[in-house]
Amino acid sequence: MAHILDGNRVRDEIKSELKPRVEALAAKGRPPGLAVVLVGNNPASEIYVRHKVKACQDLGIYSESLTPPASITTEELLAIVEQLNARHDIDGILVQLPLPPQVDTKRILLAVAPPKAVDRFHPCNVGNLVAQLPGPRACTPAGIIEILKRYKIPIAGKRAVVVGRSDIVGKPVAMLLLHEHATVTICHSKTPDLPAVCREAEILVAAIGRAAMLTADYMSSGVTVIDVGTNRVDDRAEAERIFRGSPEKMAAFEKRGNVLVGDVHPLDVVEKAAAYTPVPGGVGPLTIAMLMANTVASAERRAGTC
Ligand code: NAP
Repeated sequence: MAHILDGNRVRDEIKSELKPRVEALAAKGRPPGLAVVLVGNNPASEIYVRHKVKACQDLGIYSESLTPPASITTEELLAIVEQLNARHDIDGILVQLPLPPQVDTKRILLAVAPPKAVDRFHPCNVGNLVAQLPGPRACTPAGIIEILKRYKIPIAGKRAVVVGRSDIVGKPVAMLLLHEHATVTICHSKTPDLPAVCREAEILVAAIGRAAMLTADYMSSGVTVIDVGTNRVDDRAEAERIFRGSPEKMAAFEKRGNVLVGDVHPLDVVEKAAAYTPVPGGVGPLTIAMLMANTVASAERRAGTC
């Protein structure tokens, strides 16, 4: 039976380790500060922001929400970002996406001061990552490394295959695995014979965005599987195909009218892997924890304590 890599457990460990660091910073003068910019009234964004603010409150991190109207211009939003860049008490700035269509999202994200860009991946921080210099790390990839390390899964010398080459997951997780001395292959939609390449993996990371795409054919026995995908399946026939009519899973589908599925086949992975992150409850919980970790580390760097 495959071992479940429990993201909720790792998240709780990380948060309990962050707490004394937050307290130490507060005792020295002020707690870390995170500013969250939420433009307009996108209900999904409001939920994400609420979770992030709650995580700050749990840890004693100061958080400030700015809620400009959906009619804001690029120039007006740039002015808000510049003010936050200049604020001494703000260590991290998070501009919740998506922004309204009239706003130049790239300009806004590039305007965030790199040391404070704790959420999105500023190009300067990509450089810091490649050069192994201090700076905020992409949250989800950093969370993946935390899961592997805390479950003592060896990375050095292992064959790692990453499926997906996005700036936010695929590329940075490949770079982090390389820094941990894995031999890394990055795959994408043009990779020939993807199943054969994936079967070479001792660590297989799926960051694709396609429900249950990686079936048993993509996994060698004993592989460690990290499933980043979060795909909401609301088609009954597809849910039945994926879960092969499992009464338990179909009952969950009936209850909500949809079900969350990763990029890895949820039944096949149990058969083939030695260890895997489930969806939900695997990689997902780590993303906000690593946002908090980035904010605390940014505050420590700015306070000169690390
Ligand atoms: P993305 O930007 O859409 O990138 C998807 C990648 O998958 C691309 O590189 C694409 O290749 C590749 N791909 C697509 N179809 C493929 C195929 N048939 N064969 C091989 N490769 C294929 O997605 P993302 O932002 O990295 O996100 C990936 C998944 O992770 C999504 O489900 C997302 O919701 C989830 N996610 C979860 C978290 C979390 O906290 N749990 C955080 C971020 C993302 P090309 O480059 O060739 O197009």
